[in-house]
Amino acid sequence: MALGGACVNGFVPVAMLMGAAFAVEAGKVPFPASTATPAQRAPGPVGPKGGPKPTGRRFSSCPFVSFGAHGNSTSVYGNFASVGALGAGRFGGGKVGSFSAWPFRKPAVPVSAKVVGAGQGQTVRIWRQGREYLALPSALPSDCRSEKPDARSLKIRRGTAEMSFGQDGSCFLYNGCKIFLGFPFFWEKQELYVSRADFESKIQPLIHPQGIAAKIPVPRTLVLDAGHGGKDSGAVARGVSEKTWTWDVVQRLRQQLSSLGYRVIMTREGDKFVPLADRVAATKRAQPDLFISLHFNACSNAGARGFEIFCFPIPGAATHAGSRQRGNASVSVVNHAFVAGNTIGAYALSSCLHDAFPHLENRGIKAERLQILRNNPCPSVLVEGGFMTNAQDFEIFSKPENREKLAGAIVEGIEKYRANVERIGH
Ligand SMILES: [Zn+2]
Repeated sequence: MALGGACVNGFVPVAMLMGAAFAVEAGKVPFPASTATPAQRAPGPVGPKGGPKPTGRRFSSCPFVSFGAHGNSTSVYGNFASVGALGAGRFGGGKVGSFSAWPFRKPAVPVSAKVVGAGQGQTVRIWRQGREYLALPSALPSDCRSEKPDARSLKIRRGTAEMSFGQDGSCFLYNGCKIFLGFPFFWEKQELYVSRADFESKIQPLIHPQGIAAKIPVPRTLVLDAGHGGKDSGAVARGVSEKTWTWDVVQRLRQQLSSLGYRVIMTREGDKFVPLADRVAATKRAQPDLFISLHFNACSNAGARGFEIFCFPIPGAATHAGSRQRGNASVSVVNHAFVAGNTIGAYALSSCLHDAFPHLENRGIKAERLQILRNNPCPSVLVEGGFMTNAQDFEIFSKPENREKLAGAIVEGIEKYRANVERIGH
Protein backbone atom coordinates (compact mmCIF):
# COMPACT_ATOMS: atom_id res chain seq x y z
CA MET A 1 0.00 0.00 0.00
CA ALA A 2 1.12 3.49 -0.46
CA LEU A 3 1.46 5.12 2.89
CA GLY A 4 2.38 8.66 2.34
CA GLY A 5 2.78 9.97 5.84
CA ALA A 6 5.13 9.81 8.74
CA CYS A 7 5.37 6.52 10.54
CA VAL A 8 7.91 6.73 13.26
CA ASN A 9 7.87 5.34 16.74
CA GLY A 10 4.46 3.90 17.13
CA PHE A 11 1.08 3.92 15.55
CA VAL A 12 0.50 6.79 13.24
CA PRO A 13 -2.45 6.70 10.90
CA VAL A 14 -0.94 8.14 7.80
CA ALA A 15 -3.25 7.91 4.88
CA MET A 16 -6.73 7.48 3.65
CA LEU A 17 -6.19 5.51 0.52
CA MET A 18 -9.09 4.93 -1.82
CA GLY A 19 -11.51 4.87 1.06
CA ALA A 20 -9.61 2.53 3.34
CA ALA A 21 -8.07 3.79 6.54
CA PHE A 22 -4.46 2.70 6.75
CA ALA A 23 -1.92 2.89 9.48
CA VAL A 24 1.69 1.93 9.44
CA GLU A 25 4.12 1.18 12.17
CA ALA A 26 7.82 1.51 11.96
CA GLY A 27 8.79 2.26 15.52
CA LYS A 28 11.38 0.04 17.07
CA VAL A 29 10.51 -1.41 20.44
CA PRO A 30 12.04 -4.36 22.25
CA PHE A 31 10.73 -7.85 21.77
CA PRO A 32 11.71 -10.79 23.95
CA ALA A 33 14.59 -12.91 22.77
CA SER A 34 13.48 -15.13 19.97
CA THR A 35 12.50 -18.66 20.77
CA ALA A 36 12.31 -19.66 17.16
CA THR A 37 12.95 -23.22 16.18
CA PRO A 38 14.83 -24.18 13.06
CA ALA A 39 12.75 -24.34 9.95
CA GLN A 40 10.97 -27.65 9.92
CA ARG A 41 7.94 -29.28 8.45
CA ALA A 42 5.43 -31.34 10.39
CA PRO A 43 2.20 -33.10 9.63
CA GLY A 44 0.40 -32.03 12.80
CA PRO A 45 0.20 -28.33 13.42
CA VAL A 46 0.16 -25.92 10.55
CA GLY A 47 3.53 -26.53 8.95
CA PRO A 48 6.26 -25.04 11.04
CA LYS A 49 8.42 -23.12 8.75
CA GLY A 50 10.02 -19.77 8.82
CA GLY A 51 13.30 -20.48 10.47
CA PRO A 52 15.02 -18.92 13.39
CA LYS A 53 15.46 -15.29 14.13
CA PRO A 54 18.57 -14.10 15.88
CA THR A 55 18.33 -14.03 19.62
CA GLY A 56 17.78 -10.59 20.97
CA ARG A 57 16.60 -9.21 17.68
CA ARG A 58 14.58 -6.05 17.91
CA PHE A 59 11.21 -6.27 16.26
CA SER A 60 9.29 -3.28 15.15
CA SER A 61 5.82 -2.17 16.03
CA CYS A 62 5.11 -4.38 18.97
CA PRO A 63 4.11 -2.01 21.77
CA PHE A 64 4.07 -3.26 25.31
CA VAL A 65 0.67 -3.15 26.91
CA SER A 66 0.09 -3.00 30.62
CA PHE A 67 -2.71 -4.85 32.34
CA GLY A 68 -2.51 -3.26 35.73
CA ALA A 69 -5.79 -1.46 35.35
CA HIS A 70 -7.85 -4.60 34.97
CA GLY A 71 -9.65 -5.38 38.16
CA ASN A 72 -12.33 -7.91 37.39
CA SER A 73 -12.57 -11.06 39.42
CA THR A 74 -11.18 -14.37 38.31
CA SER A 75 -13.30 -17.44 37.93
CA VAL A 76 -12.49 -20.94 36.88
CA TYR A 77 -14.98 -22.96 34.93
CA GLY A 78 -15.11 -26.54 33.86
CA ASN A 79 -14.57 -27.76 30.38
CA PHE A 80 -16.40 -26.17 27.54
CA ALA A 81 -18.36 -29.27 26.76
CA SER A 82 -20.27 -28.77 29.95
CA VAL A 83 -20.83 -25.06 29.55
CA GLY A 84 -23.95 -25.05 27.52
CA ALA A 85 -24.41 -21.32 27.69
CA LEU A 86 -21.59 -20.88 25.22
CA GLY A 87 -23.60 -22.87 22.78
CA ALA A 88 -20.81 -23.06 20.33
CA GLY A 89 -18.87 -26.24 20.76
CA ARG A 90 -16.33 -28.09 22.79
CA PHE A 91 -12.78 -27.75 23.89
CA GLY A 92 -10.42 -30.39 25.17
CA GLY A 93 -9.89 -32.43 22.05
CA GLY A 94 -13.16 -31.69 20.34
CA LYS A 95 -14.50 -28.98 18.14
CA VAL A 96 -14.22 -25.40 19.11
CA GLY A 97 -17.09 -22.99 18.95
CA SER A 98 -17.96 -21.38 15.70
CA PHE A 99 -17.46 -17.69 15.31
CA SER A 100 -21.13 -17.13 14.94
CA ALA A 101 -21.27 -17.54 18.71
CA TRP A 102 -19.83 -14.06 19.19
CA PRO A 103 -20.36 -11.83 21.03
CA PHE A 104 -19.64 -14.08 23.98
CA ARG A 105 -22.04 -14.53 26.81
CA LYS A 106 -20.86 -15.25 30.28
CA PRO A 107 -22.04 -18.65 31.53
CA ALA A 108 -24.52 -18.30 34.34
CA VAL A 109 -22.96 -20.85 36.66
CA PRO A 110 -19.30 -21.61 37.27
CA VAL A 111 -18.90 -25.33 36.78
CA SER A 112 -15.68 -26.18 38.51
CA ALA A 113 -12.84 -24.54 40.29
CA LYS A 114 -10.46 -27.38 39.75
CA VAL A 115 -7.67 -26.88 37.32
CA VAL A 116 -6.01 -29.86 35.72
CA GLY A 117 -3.58 -30.35 32.89
CA ALA A 118 -4.09 -29.86 29.22
CA GLY A 119 -6.23 -32.41 27.50
CA GLN A 120 -7.95 -33.42 30.70
CA GLY A 121 -11.14 -31.69 29.74
CA GLN A 122 -10.59 -28.72 32.01
CA THR A 123 -10.08 -25.31 30.56
CA VAL A 124 -9.34 -22.47 32.92
CA ARG A 125 -11.30 -19.39 31.98
CA ILE A 126 -11.70 -15.93 33.36
CA TRP A 127 -13.66 -12.86 32.33
CA ARG A 128 -12.21 -9.42 32.00
CA GLN A 129 -14.22 -6.40 30.95
CA GLY A 130 -16.86 -8.59 29.39
CA ARG A 131 -14.38 -10.66 27.44
CA GLU A 132 -13.60 -14.31 27.92
CA TYR A 133 -9.99 -15.42 28.35
CA LEU A 134 -8.56 -18.93 28.38
CA ALA A 135 -5.48 -20.11 30.22
CA LEU A 136 -2.79 -21.69 28.10
CA PRO A 137 -2.04 -24.50 27.78
CA SER A 138 -5.21 -25.73 29.50
CA ALA A 139 -7.32 -25.00 26.40
CA LEU A 140 -5.09 -27.13 24.17
CA PRO A 141 -5.07 -30.90 23.66
CA SER A 142 -2.83 -33.15 25.71
CA ASP A 143 -0.26 -33.65 22.96
CA CYS A 144 0.75 -30.02 23.34
CA ARG A 145 3.78 -29.83 25.58
CA SER A 146 4.41 -26.67 27.53
CA GLU A 147 7.26 -25.22 29.50
CA LYS A 148 7.87 -21.98 31.32
CA PRO A 149 11.45 -20.83 30.89
CA ASP A 150 10.69 -18.13 33.44
CA ALA A 151 7.74 -16.59 35.25
CA ARG A 152 6.67 -14.49 32.30
CA SER A 153 7.20 -16.69 29.29
CA LEU A 154 5.57 -19.81 27.97
CA LYS A 155 6.48 -22.20 25.19
CA ILE A 156 4.04 -24.64 23.72
CA ARG A 157 5.20 -27.40 21.41
CA ARG A 158 3.17 -29.79 19.36
CA GLY A 159 5.14 -32.06 17.11
CA THR A 160 7.89 -29.90 15.74
CA ALA A 161 5.90 -26.67 15.94
CA GLU A 162 6.63 -24.15 18.65
CA MET A 163 4.55 -21.26 19.91
CA SER A 164 6.10 -18.86 22.39
CA PHE A 165 4.74 -16.04 24.50
CA GLY A 166 6.99 -13.51 26.20
CA GLN A 167 6.85 -10.13 27.86
CA ASP A 168 5.00 -8.39 25.08
CA GLY A 169 1.30 -9.12 25.35
CA SER A 170 0.45 -7.85 21.90
CA CYS A 171 1.91 -10.75 19.96
CA PHE A 172 3.40 -14.22 20.06
CA LEU A 173 5.85 -16.17 17.94
CA TYR A 174 4.92 -19.24 15.93
CA ASN A 175 8.01 -20.96 14.57
CA GLY A 176 9.70 -17.59 14.66
CA CYS A 177 6.93 -15.69 12.89
CA LYS A 178 5.48 -12.82 14.91
CA ILE A 179 1.71 -12.89 15.03
CA PHE A 180 -0.24 -10.01 16.50
CA LEU A 181 -3.22 -10.69 18.72
CA GLY A 182 -6.54 -8.90 18.61
CA PHE A 183 -6.52 -8.49 22.38
CA PRO A 184 -3.38 -8.50 24.52
CA PHE A 185 -2.68 -11.62 26.55
CA PHE A 186 -1.84 -11.26 30.21
CA TRP A 187 -0.48 -13.18 33.17
CA GLU A 188 -2.31 -13.80 36.39
CA LYS A 189 -1.28 -16.13 39.19
CA GLN A 190 1.35 -17.80 37.04
CA GLU A 191 -1.16 -18.47 34.26
CA LEU A 192 -1.11 -16.97 30.78
CA TYR A 193 -4.52 -15.91 29.50
CA VAL A 194 -5.45 -15.27 25.89
CA SER A 195 -8.81 -14.06 24.67
CA ARG A 196 -11.04 -16.81 23.40
CA ALA A 197 -11.38 -14.81 20.19
CA ASP A 198 -7.61 -14.91 19.65
CA PHE A 199 -7.44 -18.54 20.68
CA GLU A 200 -9.98 -19.55 18.07
CA SER A 201 -8.75 -17.30 15.30
CA LYS A 202 -4.97 -17.30 15.68
CA ILE A 203 -3.66 -19.85 18.16
CA GLN A 204 -5.71 -22.97 17.56
CA PRO A 205 -5.67 -22.68 13.74
CA LEU A 206 -1.87 -22.91 13.89
CA ILE A 207 -1.06 -25.29 16.72
CA HIS A 208 -4.15 -27.51 16.53
CA PRO A 209 -5.99 -26.81 13.27
CA GLN A 210 -7.95 -30.06 13.50
CA GLY A 211 -9.83 -28.48 16.40
CA ILE A 212 -11.32 -25.58 14.50
CA ALA A 213 -15.00 -25.78 13.62
CA ALA A 214 -15.12 -23.29 10.80
CA LYS A 215 -15.02 -24.78 7.33
CA ILE A 216 -12.11 -23.56 5.25
CA PRO A 217 -12.47 -23.97 1.49
CA VAL A 218 -9.74 -25.87 -0.32
CA PRO A 219 -8.22 -23.26 -2.64
CA ARG A 220 -9.06 -23.87 -6.27
CA THR A 221 -10.31 -20.47 -7.42
CA LEU A 222 -8.10 -17.56 -6.45
CA VAL A 223 -8.54 -13.82 -6.79
CA LEU A 224 -5.29 -11.91 -7.21
CA ASP A 225 -5.38 -8.20 -6.54
CA ALA A 226 -2.52 -6.16 -7.93
CA GLY A 227 -2.45 -3.05 -5.77
CA HIS A 228 -3.08 0.33 -7.37
CA GLY A 229 -3.01 0.98 -11.14
CA GLY A 230 -3.69 3.72 -13.67
CA LYS A 231 -3.89 7.14 -12.06
CA ASP A 232 -3.19 5.55 -8.69
CA SER A 233 0.54 4.86 -8.73
CA GLY A 234 0.74 3.77 -5.11
CA ALA A 235 4.11 4.39 -3.56
CA VAL A 236 6.76 5.98 -5.74
CA ALA A 237 10.44 5.59 -4.99
CA ARG A 238 13.50 6.22 -7.12
CA GLY A 239 11.27 6.78 -10.11
CA VAL A 240 9.47 3.44 -9.77
CA SER A 241 5.76 3.16 -9.05
CA GLU A 242 4.35 0.53 -6.74
CA LYS A 243 1.64 -0.24 -9.31
CA THR A 244 4.33 -1.41 -11.73
CA TRP A 245 5.83 -3.92 -9.35
CA THR A 246 2.48 -5.24 -8.13
CA TRP A 247 1.29 -5.82 -11.68
CA ASP A 248 4.58 -7.44 -12.62
CA VAL A 249 4.49 -9.88 -9.69
CA VAL A 250 0.79 -10.68 -10.06
CA GLN A 251 1.28 -11.55 -13.73
CA ARG A 252 4.04 -13.94 -12.73
CA LEU A 253 1.76 -15.32 -10.04
CA ARG A 254 -1.05 -15.90 -12.51
CA GLN A 255 1.24 -17.73 -14.87
CA GLN A 256 2.64 -19.99 -12.17
CA LEU A 257 -0.71 -20.68 -10.51
CA SER A 258 -2.49 -21.38 -13.79
CA SER A 259 0.15 -23.92 -14.71
CA LEU A 260 -0.60 -25.69 -11.44
CA GLY A 261 -4.28 -25.89 -12.29
CA TYR A 262 -5.65 -23.06 -10.20
CA ARG A 263 -8.41 -20.90 -11.59
CA VAL A 264 -7.12 -17.35 -11.33
CA ILE A 265 -9.17 -14.18 -11.47
CA MET A 266 -7.57 -10.75 -11.50
CA THR A 267 -9.04 -7.57 -10.10
CA ARG A 268 -7.23 -5.50 -12.71
CA GLU A 269 -5.64 -6.10 -16.08
CA GLY A 270 -2.75 -3.92 -17.10
CA ASP A 271 -2.07 -0.41 -15.92
CA LYS A 272 -5.67 0.45 -15.24
CA PHE A 273 -7.32 2.27 -12.37
CA VAL A 274 -9.87 0.05 -10.65
CA PRO A 275 -11.68 1.53 -7.61
CA LEU A 276 -11.58 -0.52 -4.44
CA ALA A 277 -15.34 -1.00 -4.54
CA ASP A 278 -15.08 -2.55 -8.01
CA ARG A 279 -12.32 -4.87 -6.86
CA VAL A 280 -14.46 -5.97 -3.93
CA ALA A 281 -17.46 -6.50 -6.21
CA ALA A 282 -15.38 -8.56 -8.64
CA THR A 283 -14.14 -10.70 -5.77
CA LYS A 284 -17.68 -11.27 -4.55
CA ARG A 285 -18.79 -12.31 -8.03
CA ALA A 286 -15.89 -14.73 -8.40
CA GLN A 287 -16.70 -16.50 -5.12
CA PRO A 288 -13.05 -17.49 -4.71
CA ASP A 289 -11.55 -19.84 -2.18
CA LEU A 290 -8.68 -17.48 -1.41
CA PHE A 291 -8.00 -13.79 -1.97
CA ILE A 292 -4.51 -12.29 -2.11
CA SER A 293 -3.79 -8.60 -2.52
CA LEU A 294 -0.23 -7.63 -3.32
CA HIS A 295 1.39 -4.33 -2.42
CA PHE A 296 4.78 -2.87 -1.64
CA ASN A 297 5.23 -0.63 1.36
CA ALA A 298 6.40 2.92 1.85
CA CYS A 299 7.34 4.98 4.87
CA SER A 300 8.91 8.33 5.56
CA ASN A 301 11.32 6.44 7.80
CA ALA A 302 13.72 4.96 5.28
CA GLY A 303 14.83 2.46 7.91
CA ALA A 304 11.47 0.69 7.83
CA ARG A 305 12.00 -2.52 5.93
CA GLY A 306 10.78 -6.04 5.39
CA PHE A 307 7.64 -7.84 4.40
CA GLU A 308 4.41 -8.16 6.37
CA ILE A 309 1.02 -9.70 5.89
CA PHE A 310 -2.31 -8.24 6.89
CA CYS A 311 -5.65 -9.82 7.70
CA PHE A 312 -8.86 -8.08 8.70
CA PRO A 313 -9.10 -7.68 12.51
CA ILE A 314 -11.20 -10.17 14.47
CA PRO A 315 -14.56 -8.89 15.81
CA GLY A 316 -14.24 -6.05 18.28
CA ALA A 317 -10.47 -6.07 18.11
CA ALA A 318 -8.13 -3.22 17.55
CA THR A 319 -6.01 -2.85 14.48
CA HIS A 320 -3.25 -4.04 16.79
CA ALA A 321 -3.47 -5.22 20.36
CA GLY A 322 -3.26 -2.14 22.51
CA SER A 323 -4.41 0.25 19.83
CA ARG A 324 -7.50 2.32 20.49
CA GLN A 325 -8.79 1.81 16.99
CA ARG A 326 -11.24 -0.92 17.83
CA GLY A 327 -13.96 -2.18 15.57
CA ASN A 328 -17.57 -2.43 16.54
CA ALA A 329 -18.14 -6.11 17.32
CA SER A 330 -21.80 -5.83 16.37
CA VAL A 331 -21.05 -4.74 12.83
CA SER A 332 -21.34 -7.64 10.43
CA VAL A 333 -18.22 -8.25 8.40
CA VAL A 334 -18.35 -11.06 5.88
CA ASN A 335 -14.68 -11.91 6.26
CA HIS A 336 -15.15 -12.62 9.97
CA ALA A 337 -16.41 -16.06 8.99
CA PHE A 338 -12.90 -16.84 7.75
CA VAL A 339 -10.64 -15.70 10.56
CA ALA A 340 -9.06 -19.13 11.03
CA GLY A 341 -8.39 -19.47 7.31
CA ASN A 342 -6.92 -15.98 7.27
CA THR A 343 -4.37 -16.98 9.90
CA ILE A 344 -3.48 -20.31 8.29
CA GLY A 345 -3.08 -18.64 4.91
CA ALA A 346 -1.11 -15.69 6.25
CA TYR A 347 1.27 -17.96 8.13
CA ALA A 348 1.80 -20.23 5.12
CA LEU A 349 2.68 -17.23 2.99
CA SER A 350 4.82 -15.64 5.67
CA SER A 351 6.89 -18.76 6.24
CA CYS A 352 7.48 -19.29 2.52
CA LEU A 353 8.44 -15.65 2.03
CA HIS A 354 10.87 -15.97 4.90
CA ASP A 355 12.42 -19.07 3.39
CA ALA A 356 12.76 -17.43 -0.02
CA PHE A 357 14.14 -14.17 1.37
CA PRO A 358 15.89 -15.03 4.64
CA HIS A 359 17.59 -11.64 4.76
CA LEU A 360 14.35 -9.73 4.33
CA GLU A 361 12.93 -8.71 7.69
CA ASN A 362 9.74 -10.54 8.61
CA ARG A 363 7.53 -7.92 10.25
CA GLY A 364 4.88 -10.46 11.08
CA ILE A 365 1.20 -11.04 10.60
CA LYS A 366 -0.88 -8.02 11.49
CA ALA A 367 -4.43 -6.75 11.28
CA GLU A 368 -5.76 -3.70 9.53
CA ARG A 369 -9.27 -2.58 8.78
CA LEU A 370 -8.81 -2.67 5.04
CA GLN A 371 -11.74 -2.27 2.72
CA ILE A 372 -10.19 -4.69 0.26
CA LEU A 373 -10.39 -7.46 2.88
CA ARG A 374 -13.52 -6.60 4.86
CA ASN A 375 -16.29 -8.36 2.98
CA ASN A 376 -14.46 -10.98 0.98
CA PRO A 377 -16.31 -14.31 1.13
CA CYS A 378 -13.14 -16.35 1.66
CA PRO A 379 -9.85 -16.29 3.57
CA SER A 380 -8.12 -13.09 2.51
CA VAL A 381 -4.71 -11.60 3.05
CA LEU A 382 -2.78 -8.57 1.89
CA VAL A 383 0.93 -9.07 1.30
CA GLU A 384 3.31 -6.14 1.58
CA GLY A 385 6.36 -7.45 -0.25
CA GLY A 386 8.84 -4.95 1.12
CA PHE A 387 9.49 -1.22 1.49
CA MET A 388 10.13 0.69 -1.68
CA THR A 389 11.45 3.49 0.50
CA ASN A 390 14.14 1.28 1.99
CA ALA A 391 17.35 1.02 -0.01
CA GLN A 392 17.91 -2.68 0.70
CA ASP A 393 14.32 -3.72 -0.04
CA PHE A 394 14.28 -1.59 -3.18
CA GLU A 395 17.49 -3.18 -4.39
CA ILE A 396 16.02 -6.64 -3.91
CA PHE A 397 12.74 -6.08 -5.74
CA SER A 398 14.11 -3.89 -8.48
CA LYS A 399 15.56 -7.11 -9.90
CA PRO A 400 13.10 -9.04 -12.07
CA GLU A 401 14.54 -12.34 -10.87
CA ASN A 402 13.63 -11.44 -7.30
CA ARG A 403 10.09 -10.47 -8.30
CA GLU A 404 9.88 -13.90 -9.95
CA LYS A 405 11.20 -15.39 -6.74
CA LEU A 406 8.59 -13.47 -4.75
CA ALA A 407 5.85 -14.86 -6.98
CA GLY A 408 7.30 -18.33 -6.51
CA ALA A 409 7.32 -17.95 -2.74
CA ILE A 410 3.67 -16.86 -2.76
CA VAL A 411 2.80 -19.85 -4.94
CA GLU A 412 4.61 -22.12 -2.53
CA GLY A 413 2.68 -20.51 0.33
CA ILE A 414 -0.59 -21.15 -1.47
CA GLU A 415 0.38 -24.77 -2.03
CA LYS A 416 1.32 -25.12 1.62
CA TYR A 417 -1.97 -23.52 2.64
CA ARG A 418 -3.88 -25.91 0.38
CA ALA A 419 -2.09 -28.89 1.93
CA ASN A 420 -2.91 -27.65 5.41
CA VAL A 421 -6.56 -27.08 4.58
CA GLU A 422 -6.83 -30.52 3.02
CA ARG A 423 -5.22 -32.03 6.11
CA ILE A 424 -7.85 -30.43 8.33
CA GLY A 425 -10.31 -32.30 6.18
CA HIS A 426 -13.62 -30.53 6.65
ZN1 LIG B 1 -0.04 -0.20 -1.92
